[in-house]
Amino acid sequence: MKQISSEDYFQIVSDKARGLRKPESVTFELTYGCNLRCVHCYNPTHRALPHELTKQEVFSILDQIADLGVLHLHFTGGEPLVRPDAIEIYTHAKRLGLVLHLITNATRVTPAVAEALQGLDFDDIAVSIYGASKIVYERVTGIPGSYEQFRRGLDCLAARKLPVIVRLPVMVENAHEVLEARALVEGMGIKFQYCLDIVAKNNGDPAPLAHRLDPAGKVRVDQVFLEASHRQAPEPVCAANGPFIDCSCGRNRFAVTPYGEMNLCVAFPTPRYNLRKGTVREGWEVLKQTVDHTTPNERYECPTCEVRPQCRQGRNDAWLQTGDASACLPHYKEWATLEMRTYARPQPGQAD
Ligand code: SF4
Ligand code: SF4
Repeated sequence: MKQISSEDYFQIVSDKARGLRKPESVTFELTYGCNLRCVHCYNPTHRALPHELTKQEVFSILDQIADLGVLHLHFTGGEPLVRPDAIEIYTHAKRLGLVLHLITNATRVTPAVAEALQGLDFDDIAVSIYGASKIVYERVTGIPGSYEQFRRGLDCLAARKLPVIVRLPVMVENAHEVLEARALVEGMGIKFQYCLDIVAKNNGDPAPLAHRLDPAGKVRVDQVFLEASHRQAPEPVCAANGPFIDCSCGRNRFAVTPYGEMNLCVAFPTPRYNLRKGTVREGWEVLKQTVDHTTPNERYECPTCEVRPQCRQGRNDAWLQTGDASACLPHYKEWATLEMRTYARPQPGQAD
């Protein structure tokens, strides 16, 4: 019998779910509470307000998610480990047969928490790093002593050989430490990634964008990594003739907020379907309609845009920043144009 890897298996399931418009993956923001105060954070409050979901409400939503046939569950926040009942919630989800993923800043990970996470067999644990040095890390997080907490937490996860990926959101404050961060993480035998996406807060407040690298800075960071990994150019990122909302939102994935709202994605917080009044199954129908009824207007230029293959702008970026999902944001156009020039991409219709 032909063997396939779990990664390939999950990809096949995901493709099938996308075609069938069945939810296959859910991101669950367990709380907006967080012990850090990162300058670039899209979290609107950092505090766990009284109207966040109770443990019993979370259990009920998880039961419905499992009933709907969802496979992957990504727990995030805020910082999901600030909830005192976090491990009970993960245990409930595991009993339902869901494949668990965790996004954490690791500062709340103790030896006991790492042991519990190991027992729950998380598929992966994505840990954020905000700088290689204490001074830069805490310049981003705003909390004295948080760097030591992060290092202790990461040590606990590494000691148990948990499936950790450490990700650096690259921004103005830490761009000069990208290679040092990679060396630190890889020196512990842990996989390192970086991302260049800093987005507006999920209530539309653009404050985090002040910390975003400009397009030239983003291209420079990519170049440093391409050189270090002996690669020539990043892959094209956007299909030429994709649908208007061309990601997985509302096709095979959705998100749930700490207030029980069901949305397309954590970074595309609409239609805010209220799970305290309706069911996950009903909410999924509303999400599908939201995607299908969101159509482009006369400002939509993408189909004829010559830098589209390299454009990383999501419809959510335009929607969050301008209220119009059809808008083209100058930052992304400049970034894509610079990439096309830097890597000499052939223009559409141009011979290789
Ligand atoms: S750790 Fe995450 S949720 Fe907390 S402040 Fe930083 S970016 Fe926001
Ligand atoms: S640069 Fe603007 S017009 Fe071009 S593909 Fe990106 S969003 Fe669309």
